[in-house]
Amino acid sequence: MLRIAENLKSVRERIETAARRVGRSPEEIVLVAVTKTRSVEEIREAIAHGVEHIGENYVQEAEKKFVEIGTAVHWHMIGHLQRNKVKHAVEIFDFVHSIDSEQLARELGRRAKAASKCVDVMVEVNISGEQSKFGVEPDNALDLAGSIRDIPGIRLCGFMGMAPIVNCPEEARPYFAKLKQLWDKLPDENRIFLSMGMTQDFEVAIEEGSNMVRIGTAIFGSRELSP
Ligand SMILES: *Cc1c(COP(=O)(O)O)cnc(C)c1O
Repeated sequence: MLRIAENLKSVRERIETAARRVGRSPEEIVLVAVTKTRSVEEIREAIAHGVEHIGENYVQEAEKKFVEIGTAVHWHMIGHLQRNKVKHAVEIFDFVHSIDSEQLARELGRRAKAASKCVDVMVEVNISGEQSKFGVEPDNALDLAGSIRDIPGIRLCGFMGMAPIVNCPEEARPYFAKLKQLWDKLPDENRIFLSMGMTQDFEVAIEEGSNMVRIGTAIFGSRELSP
């Protein structure tokens, strides 16, 4: 458990160093601790050391943890969201990073409104071009943003993207630069978060303009080794 505290300290230092390298303030970068497969105990440990944002990939897994942890932190849905899970997702998540269709956005807005909530959403953009990845094609991202920005119950906050798995973080740079270029074209009120960067590449993502990084392994250790 000491490990989590030490890892968090190191991640924060690396975020700060990357931000300063490009003349940005580290305070503008939100750290989302990605907790898929992690225990409630591990999550509590992270919260005890200042984590305020939790990222989960599956609604069912998040539900179990939410019951224990509650609203002490902000919950982020970072995995693919199925429409039949939206009702439950609205009960947990303050942020959904994975909007990839107008239908999904409308369903989320409808359910959020019914629960008297407003969910912050990002459009997931498939910047890697890999077939296996979710998200809209870069060419369609601004159109989708335009068609969901006025939906009641949600607030369009920006874009999320994932670089392909690369051997060296530097190889991720062009993908992040491309997403930043798209993000710059959003209207001011929708250009709040640019969610990009994970353990393998978050420093490069910050250098390219990310202000929200989603980090699991560097905080909690390898998922393969977790029980
Ligand atoms: C698992 C996951 C992460 C975190 O990955 P790490 O390599 O463990 O930092 C970030 N974003 C998404 C969408 C994920 O599924």
